[in-house]
Amino acid sequence: MTNSISKISEKTYYCPSCKQAMRRIEGKMGPFWGCSDFPKCKTTRNDADGKPSEKVDEHYRCPICTRRMVKADKEKGDYWYCSGFAKGCKVTLADHNGMPELAHRCKSCGFLLVKRKGKNGVFWGCSTYPKCTASYPNINHRPDY
Ligand SMILES: [Zn+2]
Ligand SMILES: [Zn+2]
Ligand SMILES: [Zn+2]
Repeated sequence: MTNSISKISEKTYYCPSCKQAMRRIEGKMGPFWGCSDFPKCKTTRNDADGKPSEKVDEHYRCPICTRRMVKADKEKGDYWYCSGFAKGCKVTLADHNGMPELAHRCKSCGFLLVKRKGKNGVFWGCSTYPKCTASYPNINHRPDY
């Protein structure tokens, strides 16, 4: 007896950490897979022949250009920088338990926001200041849009 199971061409791949569907993203360094629950879940996989690779992608992606984030040398401090640095992407993210801190983007220009301390306490300002002067109040460690 033969069991014929029809092949589904559009296979869905699930995130190994949260079981949501993964989606294929065309990154600047080539395609990769990211969890559809991003930014809540930051699981990514390398692309292997159109499928998410089984191997864990230990690299984190730049929130601006999707290149890999690189951990800075211990002596320099606990932060991550974008591997596109030489190409003009100046994104750096603080280290948070061995992972780059969640990035927040400016609603007006799309670049990263940085936490700043002002006269009236902490707020989020655009990293391209003074080009972009957008700023957002700080609510629960995140910008209040
Ligand atoms: Zn996930
Ligand atoms: Zn970048
Ligand atoms: Zn801005």
